[in-house]
Amino acid sequence: MKWIFGVLMVFGFSARAQLVAGTGRVKITPELPMWLSGYAGREKPATGVLQDLWAKALVLEDGAGSRVVVVTTDLLGLSHQVSVDVARKADSLYGIRRDQLLLNSSHTHSGPMVWPCVDMIFDFTLDEQRRVSQYSQQLTADLVQLIGMAMADRAPARLYSGRGSAGFAINRRNKIHPDGPVDHDVPVVKVVRPGGKTAAILFGYACHNTTLVDNNFLINGDYAGFAQAALEEENPGATCMFLMGCGGDQNPDPRGTVELAQQHGRELADAVNEVLKGATMRPVRAPIRTAYTTVSLPYRSFDVAEYEKEIVGDNKFLQRRARLMLSAYNRGFTPDHLVYPVQAVRFGTDLCVLALSGETVVDYDLKAKKMFAGEHLYVAGYSSEVMCYIPSLRVLKEGGYEPEESMIYYGFPGPFANSIEDSVTTAIRRVMKKVGAK
Ligand SMILES: [Zn+2]
Repeated sequence: MKWIFGVLMVFGFSARAQLVAGTGRVKITPELPMWLSGYAGREKPATGVLQDLWAKALVLEDGAGSRVVVVTTDLLGLSHQVSVDVARKADSLYGIRRDQLLLNSSHTHSGPMVWPCVDMIFDFTLDEQRRVSQYSQQLTADLVQLIGMAMADRAPARLYSGRGSAGFAINRRNKIHPDGPVDHDVPVVKVVRPGGKTAAILFGYACHNTTLVDNNFLINGDYAGFAQAALEEENPGATCMFLMGCGGDQNPDPRGTVELAQQHGRELADAVNEVLKGATMRPVRAPIRTAYTTVSLPYRSFDVAEYEKEIVGDNKFLQRRARLMLSAYNRGFTPDHLVYPVQAVRFGTDLCVLALSGETVVDYDLKAKKMFAGEHLYVAGYSSEVMCYIPSLRVLKEGGYEPEESMIYYGFPGPFANSIEDSVTTAIRRVMKKVGAK
């Protein structure tokens, strides 16, 4: 046994740390004109491109048949349709199971509409509708091709992980909850080739990617886009990927200009570079274990009488939502719950990624870190798909934009029933148990 270890060391490898990694990237900047997603107040499409948008993929395999494919996108969020289609094609073309595919979006509000995600905010003309739908079809094809690109790039690699900190996220519900929770952690994973060259850097932060507001009409990745670009410039050849955390109730502070988005991007990139430089990065080892589940989250009510009032009212957003609800109802279908995906990926005992879908508030992140205090846990939100906000029971009871008003823009009945936090927590326990987390 000793000599085998010795032979592997000659090639710069410790047997314990041996993994296989592949990366890929594809530009997903839309052709103009294209409506930007995220703010209902915008009254015209994008006027230019400040920064290209990217989808990036990282395949990691443990040599024993297990793998995970992480796909990050500079987008508001993937729609259910895009997420399902990409997963189905990744399975049929490359044999990648749903639990092995981790999709995540940076939640930039300076990227295109992905149909049909938060589509209620605009009333498109037929031509605009066609463009938006075509973009989503092209995006699906691009993401599948991207996964193939990363699969073709697979070669031996070592993994390291560490954790830094950045302070620009604030709890944006401070009018309701002045001391609202935040999580300033910056998780970092580094993928290194045998010769020492960095192949990929995966990093995260729990904060809305909304430094730019609704007076911006230039396509860009906001702070997460600027952080990725800075890291790629400073780490030549590395694919730098942003994994969005549970920033549903977090905002960058201050906000409103391109300069501030660049400043926050710089702060985040500096935090990542600090971790990369430090001696505290730990090796991340095989085996890779993955788990994926869905849980049903019931809505509090489906009020036909209320929708009948709203459809003839003067609020265009309530009207659109009511139209959607009543049309479903009249076809014999009452939307009464959301199917919510939850995923976990664990590397030996060295690193565990919990990936929650939707606009998850930070309470879930902090709670999971407490529940699994023995794990090196990174918690991502905005994974699989972005269908709406996912409030904790506290946020649901407090009320306000995230648990209540936003459900109108997302075109859901709402708010959620009080069982939401218990249901999400049960699903978290299920996937964490399946990957062996303690
Ligand atoms: Zn949001």
